[in-house]
Amino acid sequence: MEAIDPLFRINLTRWPSKGQPCGAGERAITVDGDGTMRRCHFIAEPIGNLYAAEWRSALVPRACTNVDCHCHIGYVHLDYLELGKVFASGLLERIPVPEARMGGVRLPVVS
Ligand code: SF4
Repeated sequence: MEAIDPLFRINLTRWPSKGQPCGAGERAITVDGDGTMRRCHFIAEPIGNLYAAEWRSALVPRACTNVDCHCHIGYVHLDYLELGKVFASGLLERIPVPEARMGGVRLPVVS
């Protein structure tokens, strides 16, 4: 897999997240059909409802309450990984900037 996707190993890692600032719930949310908003699909506690007039007030910085995060659409929001530099506008689609494929962008260290 790494022969065709040099960043594949990043997605095999369970990234430590407990207490770490994460943009899930501020820069991205998950929403149920009834409007229930959650910061991500790993943390069940609702943060608001998309149909409420004040829904935007729920979008605030938070620290993660889970031990780790192992799904791309979750851990890409962990601030310390700085994956915005790797994926830029392709963050959710998991499409890296060309420099990341060529080793020109610092990648998180995979243990
Ligand atoms: S690190 Fe993962 S589990 Fe924790 S808040 Fe962010 S997306 Fe959710």
